[in-house]
Amino acid sequence: MTLYNEAVANDSVALWFLGQAGYYMKSGGQTILIDPYLSDSVGKSAPLFARAYPTPIDPAKIQADIFIVTHDHTDHLDPETIEAYAHKDTTVFVAPRFAAKKLESLNVPNRVVVDHGVTVTINDVQITGVFALATGADTLDTCGYLITFPNGKTVYHTSDTAYCDLLLAACPKNIDVLLTCINGKFGNLNLAEAVRLTQAVNPKYVIPNHYDVMALNAENPESFRYFCNDKKVSAEVVVLPVLEKFTF
Ligand SMILES: [Zn+2]
Repeated sequence: MTLYNEAVANDSVALWFLGQAGYYMKSGGQTILIDPYLSDSVGKSAPLFARAYPTPIDPAKIQADIFIVTHDHTDHLDPETIEAYAHKDTTVFVAPRFAAKKLESLNVPNRVVVDHGVTVTINDVQITGVFALATGADTLDTCGYLITFPNGKTVYHTSDTAYCDLLLAACPKNIDVLLTCINGKFGNLNLAEAVRLTQAVNPKYVIPNHYDVMALNAENPESFRYFCNDKKVSAEVVVLPVLEKFTF
């Protein structure tokens, strides 16, 4: 599988969508996972939320230097994915405070707590916690993340977030890539709100997520593209098929 073996130059970043809000990123020798949901954990306990398509990649065969978790919901912090993940002893996990406690209970040894406003540097990759408005009282520590690679390229993952004015005020501005939820259900940004966030962030590229894995929680990413065009958003909208590489 090219995902693991493909060389990516130091001066670029390659990014693969894993479905839901999950991504694998690679730049030079650095590899980062964020919110991989590579099982059908949710569907097993709530059949209405069963996967709409098979798990695209075996979590036992994926490796990352840094593994970021945005909050403790199973479609972002999946015990089954983490249990299968074979590199727990050497990977540094990054998560907000309550999610980090959950990781501890899953026997993840290397945990760095990063909440809103905190910046850490791991392997020359800078990771900053960005404000996100929790979609429920069970995940009050929900945190977006701005990743700055050693080559200066920047990616902002919103996490699950509800809309509020503070989200637009606190978000990073003029970055390379924005990864945003668009599903408009269970508290998350809807299409129009995700467009407003995109306007505030003003990225070069915006990649929508959180629309494809669960039929009951779906959205059409082409509608997001339509709304962005309608509002004359300057960012290029990239609707990324699962496991297709996007390089910037
Ligand atoms: Zn979610």
